[in-house]
Amino acid sequence: MSREEVIWAPWRMSYIQELSEAGQATQLTPDYDFLPDAAPDCFLCQAVADVAPHAAQWRHRVAMSEQTITVLNKYPYNNGHLLVAPRRHVGNLSALTTEEQLGLMQEVTRMTERLRDVVHPDGFNVGINLGRVAGAGLPGHLHIHIVPRWNGDINFMPAIGGIKVIPQSLDALWDALTRVV
Ligand SMILES: [Zn+2]
Repeated sequence: MSREEVIWAPWRMSYIQELSEAGQATQLTPDYDFLPDAAPDCFLCQAVADVAPHAAQWRHRVAMSEQTITVLNKYPYNNGHLLVAPRRHVGNLSALTTEEQLGLMQEVTRMTERLRDVVHPDGFNVGINLGRVAGAGLPGHLHIHIVPRWNGDINFMPAIGGIKVIPQSLDALWDALTRVV
């Protein structure tokens, strides 16, 4: 059990139901069109490359720009936790082109505004963990975290040992964030 338990069971139930109702579930078979330098095991590269019908929904892909991809974090620190990443599988800021750096910052800006419209936070934590020692779960493909914050919510950085309830399912959040496109 992790130090902090996160409870947001409803989305899991709906996903399981969707799978069983789909029977053969053909729409859940990925269809990859990888970039030349992609890492096939990397979930961000997979999210970029998956061109199967409904891939955007079941990968919780919120947006793609020319340079970037934005997905919901499967293991959110808070409701509305997004990851904005370059499309290319690069792990260091120095590997980004100028266009990618600009594209990332523009997309972070755009996504904070979308989150403002959809989940109405009081503020955000925006940051990058570079390297495993800094907490990066996927050190090979850098990504910028956008974590909405509300007055009175608990700080996610220290060890708190408590239980956090994510009030909105990931599917419902994906719906809300993509409806305004
Ligand atoms: Zn990758």
